[in-house]
Amino acid sequence: MKIKPDYDLVIIGGGPAGLTAGIYAMRAKLNCILIEKKIPGGLALITDWVENYPGFPEGISGADLTDKFIEQAKRFGLKIENEAAEAIWLDDGLKKIKTDQRLITAASVIITAGTSPKKLGIEGETLFYGKGVSTCATCDGFFYRDKIVAAIGGGDSAVQESLFLTKFVKKVWLIHRRDSLRAAKILQERAFKNDKIEILWDCIPKKISGRNAVEELTIQNVKTEEIKDLSIDGCFIFAGTNPNTGFLGDLVKTDENGFVYTDNNMGTSVKGLFCAGDARKTPLRQIVTATGDAAIAVAGAEKYIENFYEK
Ligand code: NAP
Repeated sequence: MKIKPDYDLVIIGGGPAGLTAGIYAMRAKLNCILIEKKIPGGLALITDWVENYPGFPEGISGADLTDKFIEQAKRFGLKIENEAAEAIWLDDGLKKIKTDQRLITAASVIITAGTSPKKLGIEGETLFYGKGVSTCATCDGFFYRDKIVAAIGGGDSAVQESLFLTKFVKKVWLIHRRDSLRAAKILQERAFKNDKIEILWDCIPKKISGRNAVEELTIQNVKTEEIKDLSIDGCFIFAGTNPNTGFLGDLVKTDENGFVYTDNNMGTSVKGLFCAGDARKTPLRQIVTATGDAAIAVAGAEKYIENFYEK
């Protein structure tokens, strides 16, 4: 006889995808738990203002939106536990998840572990992390009132967070390695119009230096090869993201960066193991796509779980 798992479904990660999966799973009356290693919310939680999630015509802060997701999930009885998944494997037809606290067995698992900021790998980046180097403007921007900061990157995060930083700082040097931004056009327009943002095109960061805290950023123009030192008080790095999928080991198929391949039902290469949101190999990483992925993943998991118990 098949061993009964602790849960029908374990959701790993508590950002918008995980919380949405929780809402759908509870409404499907699955015996489900969500585990989250930090506090729920993911990158949405540290997003100053979300204005592309439907239903909020004036926009909503990432923190308030997260609160609403959590409230809604809890209304349907979702249990959210503060623990980190460290490994996952298959055993006796079950999924086994080792967390930092216990071993959990599940019929099905949805990975909604999201992403973490990528490092640049330049001198001074690690040394000054927390002493002027940051990857979160909403967390640290306040400390740079009337200061000069650099923001590295040309994506949505770099431009949106640079705009947020202008609420506090005297100036943002936006350092981008190409001559056009990849951020949404509406964000680009706002940045171009903002007097506090100066974009240094075709420039790459080379070194962050200072005595006890960040004082200088060395950049190089990739076209002219000219090297320049900028006097700054803080350096915000928005150079993209890495998926939080290391705990999966070689269990599922991923791309070379660890983003998980899924089919149309959000199923991975392992039956009964699904992935939704930013950790998935996907053409668009937004809150709205994460929540949509999650609904599809739960529908897939529900079918899998039905078969699991029938067999
Ligand atoms: P991203 O879109 O991957 O952009 C990363 C940026 O960093 C790119 O401009 C890239 O340059 C640059 N970069 C990468 N490595 C670098 C290096 N070593 N040195 C210098 N520059 C480097 O990452 P993101 O902006 O964090 O966004 C992640 C995902 O979240 C995206 O899908 C984004 O759309 C989404 N997001 C959406 C919103 C929103 O909807 N408002 C807000 C935030 C994030 P290249 O352009 O040359 O590649």
